[in-house]
Amino acid sequence: MRKPFVAGNWKMNGSRDSVRTLLDGIKAGMADVSVAEVAVCPPAIYIADVQQQLEGSAIGCGGQDVSTQASGAFTGEISTAMLQDFACRYTLVGHSERRTLHGEDDALVARKFSVASAAGLIPILCIGETLQEREANETESVVSRQLDAVIELDGIEALADCIIAYEPVWAIGTGKTASSAQAQEVHAFIRQKLAELNADVAEGVRILYGGSVKGSNAEELFGQTDIDGGLIGGASLMADDFLAICRAAR
Ligand code: PEP
Repeated sequence: MRKPFVAGNWKMNGSRDSVRTLLDGIKAGMADVSVAEVAVCPPAIYIADVQQQLEGSAIGCGGQDVSTQASGAFTGEISTAMLQDFACRYTLVGHSERRTLHGEDDALVARKFSVASAAGLIPILCIGETLQEREANETESVVSRQLDAVIELDGIEALADCIIAYEPVWAIGTGKTASSAQAQEVHAFIRQKLAELNADVAEGVRILYGGSVKGSNAEELFGQTDIDGGLIGGASLMADDFLAICRAAR
């Protein structure tokens, strides 16, 4: 049985004050969200504040990105050990904004995945096709290629302890959600692809959907057989919206 998981990706939003208010709101409403595992991924500079505020709470914290390097002259980068120093359990890797705006290719994302899982962090591996790729019927080949980069580097077993987030790029921050049928089709494809290599890994791995998830569409999306929760951008910045999504993940 896969435990539903909902993670909020706050991206580069907020201030010390707004982060405090947002987290207070989420914590206050968590009592009736007992089923889902929940995490937030704040901007790195607020992780220390978030860690303090989350003390004693079941809500986890994650990085939005991680370096492949352990330490040294890598200006602007954050290592796995630094994330763990502040009690992060997760880190996003390969978010589409990192891939598009920061030129991260499959090989680099696979290395980030590899160092994160070797350090004991749970990587949330983001994959998904652009609109152009979907229209060219390339969705399956794109997500396959993105998964294969990780499998070739670390083996299929490495996926046992990770979370996959299928995020069609055309649905991120656009208000265009994939229909539940469209999302389920890709999730089933991903699980089937993994099952060809290792049935246990395929059955156990949680595959989240991300892309304009809201309180109003979460229940239908999360009700699909192969959708195990969500990676939430915009709607994770308002406590009530995020909580409504968490409640839908049963
Ligand atoms: C995301 O950035 O991972 C995301 C899914 O964003 P949004 O929910 O705003 O589409």
